This record gives sequence, C-alpha cells and structure tokens, in this order.
Amino acid sequence: MRKISIFGATGSIGQNTIDLIRRAPDSYNVVALTGGANIERLAQDAIALRADIAVTAYDCHLPALQAALQGSGVEAAAGQTALLEAAARPADWIMSAIVGAAGLAPGLEALKHGTTLALANKESLVCAGQLLLQTAERYGARLLPVDSEHSAVFQGLVGEDIAAVERIIITASGGAFRDWPLEDLPKATLAQASSHPNWDMGQRITIDSASMFNKALEVIETKEYFGVRPDQIEVLVHPESLVHALVGFNDGAIMAHLGAADMRHAIGYALHWPERQSLPVERLDLARIGQLNFRAPDPARYPALRLANEVMARGGMMGAAFNAAKEQALDDFIAGRIRFTDMAVVVETVLEQMSGESDLIDAEMTLDNVGRVDHLARKQAARAAAERIG
Ligand code: NAD
Ligand code: MG
Repeated sequence: MRKISIFGATGSIGQNTIDLIRRAPDSYNVVALTGGANIERLAQDAIALRADIAVTAYDCHLPALQAALQGSGVEAAAGQTALLEAAARPADWIMSAIVGAAGLAPGLEALKHGTTLALANKESLVCAGQLLLQTAERYGARLLPVDSEHSAVFQGLVGEDIAAVERIIITASGGAFRDWPLEDLPKATLAQASSHPNWDMGQRITIDSASMFNKALEVIETKEYFGVRPDQIEVLVHPESLVHALVGFNDGAIMAHLGAADMRHAIGYALHWPERQSLPVERLDLARIGQLNFRAPDPARYPALRLANEVMARGGMMGAAFNAAKEQALDDFIAGRIRFTDMAVVVETVLEQMSGESDLIDAEMTLDNVGRVDHLARKQAARAAAERIG
C-alpha cells in the first residue's frame, strides 16, 4: 500500500485526485487530507478514505472539524503549524494542490522528508523554483509536474535529452474572453471571468485563464521546472484545449501531447509514474473532432504574457513579487474593487516598483525572503489598486 497525502484536498485538483484514489482503495493508505473552509467536504472525504489526519488551514474552523470527525478515528488539526506537521508525516506521494503562494511552505516541508511531490501548485515554482529544486535534490525527493501543459512536456521528454530541445510550446485556450472585442474587456464581470470554455477548475485559476495570468505563471513554471531559456518557451492559443503542449527538437521534429481536457490525466500520470495505468478519461476521436486550431496570442489582449517575460529577464525573486501582486489584484477583482483589465495594470505597477528593490529581490532565495518579497508586493498591489479606484 502506498502512503499518500493530499494538500488542498477539497479543491478542484484535490477532488479529482480523490476520485482516482477512490477507484483503487486497496492500493492507498491515506495519511493526511487538508482543506480550508469547506469542513463538511474535508471531513466526509477523510472518513471515507480513512485518513490518519484532516487539517483545515484556518484555526477558526477547528471546532467544526473536530465535531464532524468525532468518533471516526480521524485526527483533527488546524492552522499553519498543523499543515507543516502534516507535510512532515511520512508519505510516498503527496499532492500539492493548495492554491496560491500558501502552497509553498507545506510543499517545501514535504520535500525535506524525501517524498515524491506531485506539484499542481504552480505558484510555488513561480515564487521559489530554485529553492524547491535544490531542496528536492538535497533530500533525495522528487517533483512531478501536474499542470496539464507541464505533464505533457514531461511526457514528451521521456527518453529524450533536454539538450536536444529547441523549444517548448505550451497551449492556452484563450480563456473566457478570447473572442470578445478588446474594448469590452474592462466591462467583464466576475461571473463572466469565472466560466471557462473547456476546463472545469477552481475559480481563481479560471479567472487567471481569462486574463492569461495563468499562462504567464506557466511560462515561468516551464523555465524553472525544465531549466530552459525564456526565449525557448512559446505560448500558442489553441481553442480546443486538446493539444496540451509540444516539444520541438533540434532535428525539426515536434512531439505533441494530446488528450481530453480532464485533469485526471495529468494527476494520474504523476500518481502512477513511471508507469502508465488505465485512467477513466475520455478517449479522443480525432475523426469526429475533425479540426484543431492554433493562433498566436494577441499581446494587446493578454499583457500578462509580456509581464512574465519581464519577470524572467529581471531574475532574482521577481517571480514571488509577480505572483503576490497577481494574487492581490485577483482578490481585488473578485471583491469588485477593480476592473478585469486593472489587474494587469496593478501587477505592472508593482513590478516597476519592486525591480528597484535590489536588497530584497536579489537576496538569497529562502522561505523567509520569499515571504518578505510576497508581503511587500501585496502591499504595493493593494495601494496600486486603491489608486485605480480613487
Ligand atoms: P481550488 O480553489 O479549487 O482549491 C484550492 C484548495 O486549496 C482548497 O482545498 C482550499 O481549501 C485550499 N486552500 C486555499 N487557500 C488556502 C490557504 N491559504 N492555505 C491552505 N489551503 C488553502 O483550486 P484548484 O483549481 O484545485 O487549484 C489548485 C492548484 O492547482 C493551483 O495552484 C492551481 O493553479 C493548480 N492547477 C489547477 C488546475 C485545475 O484544473 N483546477 C489545473 C492546473 C493547475
Ligand atoms: Mg495548466
């Protein structure tokens, strides 16, 4: 029996992971499940999967979790320290599916215990890629990509030499507003931004898909995970979301990865790696699909992509600043404080301010220093957002 834990178990990726685990209950021994405010979901799954412990990230929800787990034999815990303690519990495989920079500390802690970390939480690679990779190496742990594009690239590289790779092309659906007139974008509502044409995902990543901030994070994730240069990474708009990524080699060959738009593929690949096992995902019928479309992303529609390139060019801990500013701007958009198009303006303002903070941005990449950058960038983003409103 493999020991596994799921961080962010109540979210979209977490639930898809649980769906796969449930299909083979005798193969897995569930150690920890973690969640946030959805205590009912967390407790139900922890009991059904006979987890050792269930952790809510928020102290205020501990009494509800304790009540829901009473008599079940599942331990209840809450708060940051409890999350880290859960990450330190021995496990063979841990899913990192908390959303945002909050996933970084538990992910690092898990790596320090030599586990295999399936990384859906792309933000941690964007904030501290070098730190994660070095930690994995130092403790003999392994990081496996779960983002669909990165899983696709990873699969395209099996048996290949990374030195023979000329370029990596990650696809983007173009999000909810890919066909909107540009002048309508400032009027986009939260409900409109929260609906994705192809994928069923958490709300934050869905809005990030509409703004392409998600793809911007993924470009940086590609650079960090595969160690390629920024100029080797391309983004291609592909409305059908069936080709997830393409790897171009030095002989002109391109290996494309196709599959249904179902995250259980990438999760399942990471779960069973290095083997492949049968997965309950739809099989593509290309004759029926008939046509696949591709186009270059419009820079005016998707300023986030340009910002990602600026972040990579600046280096240091600019990724942490970028992610934090984006998270704050997204909070402000969700709360109705700024418009959809203000998000990129806010993030760009923060990048301009932060790039001068050399003492901070170019300091040694440690969890504390990443936290300092994150804190300041959020403050600056909140201020920049307030100026947009005022
Ligand atoms: P989600 O919002 O559906 O779920 C997030 C999970 O994190 C929940 O369990 C929530 O309780 C927990 N959480 C939220 N804030 C927390 C905090 N401060 N501390 C601890 N836990 C917290 O998100 P999701 O769509 O499942 O995405 C999870 C991660 O996977 C993100 O990094 C996202 O970018 C990435 N990802 C998601 C998809 C997808 O299809 N949903 C695809 C690729 C990558
Ligand atoms: Mg993705």
